[in-house]
Amino acid sequence: MSSRLSGPFGGSHSSLAVSIPRPPLPDNSGCRTSIYRKIEYCRTAQGVRAIDFPIDQIIAEKHNGQTVTDNLRLSCYWCNSFKGSDLSSADWATNRQIVPLFNPRQHIWHDHFKLDGLSIQPLTITGRVTSFLLRFNAPERIEERELLISLNAYPCA
Ligand SMILES: [Zn+2]
Repeated sequence: MSSRLSGPFGGSHSSLAVSIPRPPLPDNSGCRTSIYRKIEYCRTAQGVRAIDFPIDQIIAEKHNGQTVTDNLRLSCYWCNSFKGSDLSSADWATNRQIVPLFNPRQHIWHDHFKLDGLSIQPLTITGRVTSFLLRFNAPERIEERELLISLNAYPCA
């Protein structure tokens, strides 16, 4: 197992840190304190990384999302890259029903997902479309999760 993982677009995490733009912070509270320390999509913690994770706008500006604290969450590179500006996805198990993604401001992680060994398993249709779109169980992410668990650094609370 390698300790250096490639990012979702083939680059290293450090190259993605340069390429992903960050929205301006709404005030001096900063996104590196309190509520922003928890990565709420895949439960990977910022604390074990040498570089800062990007800030996700839960509702992107193109959907009239605002750059305000209530709409910002710390996100790992994988989740941030795969989610992009998406708010929903088609569920293949229900005839491609359009389902809103997991919203860390509205939903409780354990209501929609469970950690099963190295895999994040969906418990609901919301969990299923989110897990699919954000590729929670892609081989690279499973490998990373295995490493983080071995370092006692996963899952974050
Ligand atoms: Zn993530």
